[in-house]
Amino acid sequence: MDWLNGFDSRVDVDVPLSEHTWFGLGGTAARMVSPRDEPQLAALVQQAQARGVPVRVLGSGANVLVSDAGVDGVVVRLNEPAFTTVSFDGEVATAGGGADLMKLCSACVDRGLSGLECMAGIPGTVGGAIRMNAGGRFGEISGCLEDARVMQPTGAVDVLARDRIGFGYRRSNLGRAIVLSARFRLRRCRADDVRARFREYWRFKKASQPMAECSAGCIFKNPPGDSAGRLIDQAGLKGRTRGLARVSERHANFIVADDGATATDVLELVDEIRSAVQEKFGILLDLEIEVWQPAAARSYAV
Ligand SMILES: Cc1cc2nc3c(=O)[nH]c(=O)nc-3n(C[C@H](O)[C@H](O)[C@H](O)COP(=O)(O)OP(=O)(O)OC[C@H]3O[C@@H](n4cnc5c(N)ncnc54)[C@H](O)[C@@H]3O)c2cc1C
Repeated sequence: MDWLNGFDSRVDVDVPLSEHTWFGLGGTAARMVSPRDEPQLAALVQQAQARGVPVRVLGSGANVLVSDAGVDGVVVRLNEPAFTTVSFDGEVATAGGGADLMKLCSACVDRGLSGLECMAGIPGTVGGAIRMNAGGRFGEISGCLEDARVMQPTGAVDVLARDRIGFGYRRSNLGRAIVLSARFRLRRCRADDVRARFREYWRFKKASQPMAECSAGCIFKNPPGDSAGRLIDQAGLKGRTRGLARVSERHANFIVADDGATATDVLELVDEIRSAVQEKFGILLDLEIEVWQPAAARSYAV
């Protein structure tokens, strides 16, 4: 990928993605690029598109499992200041696509702005959270999103109002568009009330999920009207291991990776859980996490 030499942005070669994902395992990215600003990002996606090179955006890697074979093409990180700033105008917060979600939530809480405290304890960047419509029992990020500026694979920039993003349960229709920034419309409240809610949601999450272990959050989506964690638990799989990957005892929908685990361990455990739940309940669980693998080696249904 010599064409990347001309870029006035940071380009790294063979980067271990274990250092950039919450699972802490998997292979390398052939190239990792941190564009300095939007024009650099536009040039990158245009050239990659012209050459048929796959581009993947990595946020904080909290919902991604990287295969042991790593990934080909270019992994983009929006970690330069042009993509990470947060600003406020009255009750509207504007955050870069690469901004840290928890920092945004804390800034809102400090200003007594309500709407994003439901994201307490959900790791990630603003862009990753919008793409996944991250959330839980207390709300989803789409709830207070006004609009998002996105870059298409052609380099063109669009502003998409919330209704055009096709949000559903842990999904959006963003496809290959990259979230550059987003605006959130919040409600002014007493800061102490917003902080109390934020802390309550955080405590709930800490008590019910293995937050201190290496994982990517919930592995499977909840099937309609049911809970994947309940099904996995009732199938007797809590504590089940494959290599050094283990079904969490605290929350059965989390697979945690102990030191030395491989992505293959996790994928084999995923297969085992799916088969056991289908056999016992006749329900085929859908993955919530994304599995990243080289285009030429797609052996796993993603
Ligand atoms: C301990 C733990 C607890 C979790 N709890 C929850 C929870 O309660 N609720 C929940 O919903 N999730 C939860 N998750 C999953 C994760 O936090 C969310 O999915 C989060 O939104 C991922 O954000 P990220 O920036 O890390 O995205 P990544 O994992 O880096 O990427 C996820 C997807 O978003 C895409 N993406 C990243 N940045 C952009 C961008 N700028 N523009 C377009 N696409 C982009 C990636 O290409 C990928 O397709 C948990 C994860 C962990 C590790």
